[in-house]
Amino acid sequence: MFLRGLTSLVAPVQRSTIMSAQIPTKFDQFFKKVDELKPEFIDVVAQAVAIPAVSSDESLRPQVVKKAHFLVSQLESLGFTDIQLKPLGLQPPPVTDPKLELPPVVLSRYGSDPKKKTVLVYGHYDVQPASIEDGWDTEPFTLVVDEEKGQLRGRGATDDTGPLTGWLHVVRAHREAGIEFPVNLITCFEGMEESGSLGLEELIAKEATEYFKDVDAVCISDNYWLGTRKPVLTYGLRGCNYYQTIVEGPKADLHSGVFGGIIAEPMIDLVKVMGTLVDSDGKIQVKGIDEMVAPVTSKEHEIYEEIDFSLDELNNASGSNTALYTKKEDILMHRWRYPSLSLHGVEGAFSAQGAKTVIPAKVMGKFSIRTVPDMDSEKLTKLVIDHCDKEFAKLNSPNKCKTELIHDGAYWASDPHNAQFSAASKATELVYGVKPDLTREGGSIPITVTFQDELKTSVLLLPMGRGDDGAHSINEKLDISNFINGIKLMGAYLHYYAESKEN
Ligand SMILES: [Zn+2]
Repeated sequence: MFLRGLTSLVAPVQRSTIMSAQIPTKFDQFFKKVDELKPEFIDVVAQAVAIPAVSSDESLRPQVVKKAHFLVSQLESLGFTDIQLKPLGLQPPPVTDPKLELPPVVLSRYGSDPKKKTVLVYGHYDVQPASIEDGWDTEPFTLVVDEEKGQLRGRGATDDTGPLTGWLHVVRAHREAGIEFPVNLITCFEGMEESGSLGLEELIAKEATEYFKDVDAVCISDNYWLGTRKPVLTYGLRGCNYYQTIVEGPKADLHSGVFGGIIAEPMIDLVKVMGTLVDSDGKIQVKGIDEMVAPVTSKEHEIYEEIDFSLDELNNASGSNTALYTKKEDILMHRWRYPSLSLHGVEGAFSAQGAKTVIPAKVMGKFSIRTVPDMDSEKLTKLVIDHCDKEFAKLNSPNKCKTELIHDGAYWASDPHNAQFSAASKATELVYGVKPDLTREGGSIPITVTFQDELKTSVLLLPMGRGDDGAHSINEKLDISNFINGIKLMGAYLHYYAESKEN
């Protein structure tokens, strides 16, 4: 009932009303059908959101699987073929139930015309945990269609249930409008993204020469606009190398009243070593890192000039005035295309309330470096370990110190002017009436690199939602205009990409 009457929605740019005369006919038909089917599309999202597919909660695993089956029924009704629920085996430890199966990956095809290009679309159907006690205004697994604000609210609305179903809506609108689908579509929908995409890398490697063998391009819709006004295409992600420095000395924790001043304390050594890693102005002090960073090109400078962003947005996001840079270009470059080093914590140290007089016997300092092109992970690790060893040696301490890599994830950077990005850029102009900002992300989506390397194709990140959607937070939302325009954008991108000469 609450799905009816969604008429007056405010889009950032209402292209359809401003410039409808200029829209080419094949898009006109498609766009009209998308508008017409809006209530049905929202109903599908509502049904999907109603399934609490929280991948991190073992007790909810049957619900995650149920959502996979829900998608299968949708795909079947839309004429997708070769639909497979790929099992990924048992979930590796740590896990309470050693027999817990990972949720399946949903593979399917729409069309298999050898004359057409094949596009693989990735999305995830699992969601972050959510409960009303966390502070939600409404029940998180009941989609609220807020006509006044023009928003869909519920867990998964923007991350990633809304965008994932977007691809199905593109197919449905084509079918119902009688428009030929421009490409062969392959879906790869996983149910474990919010819990580290366990098993997916292996599946992609295995299917690279099987199910995915004809894939020309990969499109992922699982990130967000930089802000709330301007659509973006994303062409880069930073990687992450995570380290720990372990300092140990005494056999057990000691009392400072008894041992303070007469033994070498591990914590003092660790704090000194960690203090040499980075300056208060964010400058990394490990020698040799700057030399590995790819120089900024003049073309890159142009990209940054165009981007809609300000210091105020950073201050709002951090809830403070603690920014290290004031200029837009400096802020964005240091978030996206330069490395950063963060100190995260100390395991083994006293961290509770009060004034405990302990001398910790063994402490592990955690820090990570966000990596960018052309940093080499192995070389970086060597530089970091050498730096920590050298700094510790300067202390002349009888304690033992060791630095090690805990894990690394690769960075990713694509050519933002290749055929896929050009197609998506044209599609954005058609739907929103503006050229998209070309953005990168400071964080990581490791599966992006896996797709690119295993399938040897280009990957496009095509976000649907806005920067303030609250993906992992309470009251997660997707603006209805972003949802509807996002579906149009996905469809238009497929058409333009199909027309492009190169892959
Ligand atoms: Zn996501």
